[in-house]
Amino acid sequence: MPFCPKCKYEFVEGLDKCPDCKAKLIERLPEEYEVSIKWVQLSILSSPIMAEMVKEALENRGIQSFIKTDVLNAVFLAKGTSTPGSFAKIFVPEIDKISAEEILKSITDSK
Ligand SMILES: [Zn+2]
Repeated sequence: MPFCPKCKYEFVEGLDKCPDCKAKLIERLPEEYEVSIKWVQLSILSSPIMAEMVKEALENRGIQSFIKTDVLNAVFLAKGTSTPGSFAKIFVPEIDKISAEEILKSITDSK
């Protein structure tokens, strides 16, 4: 949804300027406006490709998410869960965590 960075209102698709302040609308909130969302880690996935799949599935259900790729840390290496490499952490808003977990489960189960 287009969003006015000055008024912090969302507008319907199709507008490119804010009707109130004439500011150019942007596609989404800049990072600093998102602090009100409490992001929680949903899962750590063994590959960024898998993480992208999960993200897409979540978006299809209207759940926001973001992926953070991390170099494997020592704790995971010690557990020997998988081959060393980059892992992808996926984050969802805390309010969506339960539904997101169900979606994640349905993806990982079908594999
Ligand atoms: Zn405005």
